[in-house]
Amino acid sequence: MGSIAFDSVRTPFGERNRMLGGSAVHFSLAASFFTDVRVVGPVGDDFGDEEYEVLRERGVDTSDVERVAGRRTFFWRGRYEYDLNTAHTEETQLGVFGDFEPKLSPESRAAEALFLANIQPQLQRAVRGQCEARVAGLDSMNLWIETERDALLETIGEVDLLFMNDAEVRMLTEEPNLVRAARKVLAMGPRAVVAKQGEYGAALFSSDRFFSLPAYPLETVRDPTGAGDSFAGGFMGHLVSQGEGAGDDHDELRRAMTYGSVLASFNVEEFGTERVQKLTRDEIEARYEEFRAITSLSEVPTA
Ligand code: AMP
Repeated sequence: MGSIAFDSVRTPFGERNRMLGGSAVHFSLAASFFTDVRVVGPVGDDFGDEEYEVLRERGVDTSDVERVAGRRTFFWRGRYEYDLNTAHTEETQLGVFGDFEPKLSPESRAAEALFLANIQPQLQRAVRGQCEARVAGLDSMNLWIETERDALLETIGEVDLLFMNDAEVRMLTEEPNLVRAARKVLAMGPRAVVAKQGEYGAALFSSDRFFSLPAYPLETVRDPTGAGDSFAGGFMGHLVSQGEGAGDDHDELRRAMTYGSVLASFNVEEFGTERVQKLTRDEIEARYEEFRAITSLSEVPTA
């Protein structure tokens, strides 16, 4: 559950007007390579068959997408400069999200896992309350830390995994040191925190373990929009595909970090959903193997 959107994005490498986007869309497409996905969220009159088709082609179930007559789909306009790690928001139109009250279908209520993609924390909380999922993840952003802090803290207390940019983890906890900041988040409830670090990779903190992975060394990055959601989709998709208990297994969490990084790396190669739409499972596995190669260390010879 999260935003289903039209995005207008400008980067130093090009621009697109009103392309399909949204946190829930990027997450769903990435997770669809690993498990069955249902996407939940509202759209307006301007959301057409072409947009539904992108989700359906990846097998994403859209029966919980609610079409609200007389309203417009969530719209986000953003721009990136040469530092692609920072998105500058130029315009946000909540549209259908202005007064959206989520009502999950029985199928969605019974889902094994839930991802609360970035959207108002009260909405995330309402959905968490309706879903029986044994594992729940959440992503958020600086906007909600600034404007809805209390609601966000309550919602974080009800999830198992928190995905946030490292700057946002620091901002949320008012703690400049990332290790201490992650500890503070773990004390709020989640069992693990993933601090995303843009082109530098991502770090995982749990109560007694730490794992860090660089980003894949890409030569072509066109549009970072949706990288965080694609990361979460690869991460949670893999974890869910490994069955109950995977969330407590550190090796499995390391693999999930790697699949998250793989999906994020493909996502940024082209604009919006363009690259992930034509991605194959073989390409995912090949890049996973490359990650294994670039991150393995041999021992220093002693004699
Ligand atoms: P990210 O993975 O952080 O790059 O997420 C990018 C997606 O977030 C875009 O496709 C936007 O449509 C969506 N987005 C931007 N601002 C918001 C917001 N305030 N609430 C929910 N989704 C948003």
